[in-house]
Amino acid sequence: MEIDKRAKELRTLLNHYSDLYYDQDAPAVSDAEYDTLMQELKVIEAEHPHLIHPDSPTQKVGGTAKRTAGVLVAHRVPMLSMQDLFSREEVEHFVSDCKEKLGEDTTFLVETKIDGLSMSLRYENGKLVTALTRGDGRNFGEEVTANAKVIQDVPVKLKKKLEYLEVRGEVYMTNQAFDAVNERQELLGKKTFANPRNCAAGTLRQLDASITRERNLSFFVFNIQDMRGMELSTHAEAYDFLTDCGITVIAHYWVCKDQEEVWQAIEAIGEMRGSLPYDIDGAVVKVNELNTRTQLKDTAKNAGYQVAYKYPPERKETKLLEIELSVGRTGKITPTAIFEPVRLCGTTVSRCTLHNQDYITNLGIRLGSTLLIEKSGEVIPKCVGVVAEKQPDGEDVFLIPMVCPVCGEPAVREDTADIKCVNLSCPAQLERLIGHFVARDSMDIKGFGAVYVHDLIQEGYLSDVADIFILHQHREELIEKGIIGKEKNTDKLLGVIEKAKGNPPARLLTGLGISNVGKSAAQALMNHFGTFDALAAATEEEMTAINDIGPISAKCVYAYFRQERNQTVIEKLKDAGVNMAQEIVVQQAEGPLSGQTVVITGTLDGMSREEAADLVKQNGGKVTGSVSKKTSFLLAGEAAGSKLTKAQDLGIPVLTLEEFLEKLKTE
Ligand code: NAD
Repeated sequence: MEIDKRAKELRTLLNHYSDLYYDQDAPAVSDAEYDTLMQELKVIEAEHPHLIHPDSPTQKVGGTAKRTAGVLVAHRVPMLSMQDLFSREEVEHFVSDCKEKLGEDTTFLVETKIDGLSMSLRYENGKLVTALTRGDGRNFGEEVTANAKVIQDVPVKLKKKLEYLEVRGEVYMTNQAFDAVNERQELLGKKTFANPRNCAAGTLRQLDASITRERNLSFFVFNIQDMRGMELSTHAEAYDFLTDCGITVIAHYWVCKDQEEVWQAIEAIGEMRGSLPYDIDGAVVKVNELNTRTQLKDTAKNAGYQVAYKYPPERKETKLLEIELSVGRTGKITPTAIFEPVRLCGTTVSRCTLHNQDYITNLGIRLGSTLLIEKSGEVIPKCVGVVAEKQPDGEDVFLIPMVCPVCGEPAVREDTADIKCVNLSCPAQLERLIGHFVARDSMDIKGFGAVYVHDLIQEGYLSDVADIFILHQHREELIEKGIIGKEKNTDKLLGVIEKAKGNPPARLLTGLGISNVGKSAAQALMNHFGTFDALAAATEEEMTAINDIGPISAKCVYAYFRQERNQTVIEKLKDAGVNMAQEIVVQQAEGPLSGQTVVITGTLDGMSREEAADLVKQNGGKVTGSVSKKTSFLLAGEAAGSKLTKAQDLGIPVLTLEEFLEKLKTE
């Protein structure tokens, strides 16, 4: 039957999207698209109840609990989801239904629904003991206590000592923190995150708490799951109590007594959503009285006492005025649409990125087009199309000119959608590179602001990063022109620059902005090679033998030192007296395989050799290519050849993948 087929199709599709969204933090479709498919399935299931299947996404909380994030811990109180509503009528129906079942004087809380991921915290005698993700919602969550402890809003100790308190809240990322992470990812040549929610989810569930700390997650509590040693009667009261305990609760909520007030609060949140420092994906309406809540039945998936109202994405038409082109540090030319200002979700917007030529071509954007600009929960507006009837006559689709808008040199399009300026002296790239070079994680030259950098390039004092160290030769001129200020300021900055010459060379290497070489990779390389000369002479294989250095980083470093222009910069830095040597540090990586050397061979069942090598490195071990007496053990899969024979000859232990994984757990 057709309808059976469609229901099955929708189940498969939604389960697939759910897996990408919850477990891999890599959504393939927008939330609105996902919600539309889900609605279609709900309608089919309502009309044909025999088609409701236990595996249907309408019947279970999205996501599974995976061991990758931490150990699995059983939920004491299920962490359920809630029903989505899309219209005023549905919200009013929920309110009247609650009043009918629980009594006319039932009140409600309307709150912002921040788009992040759920986490529960258990406090025993006022001390944080366990933090869990939602996982599968019903049975297990992933234990993420170490990561939770580095989130600023999570108190490790409560101001009030309670025998037991379990709260549930949302881990999220402010737009500012999100932009900073993506900027850093971009600088390191790493994949950027699709949105703050995915970034927060990936960050909370990864293994290194220092990365979590760095990424600046936020957290607020929206429910008490369980408590002993205290009685409360309403949700609003609970928020006051939690605040007294030193817990951050949701920032915006309204207590409402009827349909009208509930709707007004929803509208008020809708109005403010564009001006909040984080993304929200709706408003939550929940029953305020705690003792009557239990009379409302939960489903397998949703809690009965609360619903989520989802705002429609706001979309407006506006005239495209111009397309601005800018150049990033890597040379990428990015087109930005400048359009007549429109008000969307409470803020006025007048520009949005057009990403690249393919995006422009696919949407058919011409100069003078009328654009369709959309803004939903996300704060960033996007262009989703053009109004076909209003396309300007005689104008072709906009083509990004193949010259750099800053230096005028020819630009190139390689095998990606990006058009790049490849002129390494391009002032736009140089400005950003110098900004990166003087930054805190690099040479940490304090007081070297972006304005000075811009002016010094314009005035011809800086043509590469090495010129920074000969600025003192132009001291008089600089003071005369007042570029860095008067005598005092100029001398102060020149002094900081002079001091930076003695920095550890890993800072210098970080500052050079080599793709895929961030702070920790630079440190690992310098610890191993000791000098820039040794690093410049190293092969890619020698570099990948170091823990933390992957083949892509090695390739980039190797290529960097082969370019004549870069060699000149390194020579200039050397001549200026910048420190390029440190002591070699024998790496003492920590983990169950610390000090062990592993060889991997054959086809492993369910894991690539690269993934296995990463696991060895993450656990403190070293991977080498050939078996010798120094090999601690051989990890061998199917069809292992001469390495297996050699290991057996030398009496080196041989482990299967299963034994290897077991070893990681037990050692
Ligand atoms: P949900 O995220 O819509 O709602 C439940 C969650 O809201 C709770 O787990 C809680 O963590 C959070 N929340 C935030 N503020 C809250 C507050 N004040 N009070 C109570 N809870 C609050 O539900 P869900 O089932 O996790 O996810 C469904 C949504 O996820 C869909 O509507 C869809 O938009 C999105 N999704 C998207 C994709 C995709 O591929 N784009 C895939 C799956 C799900």
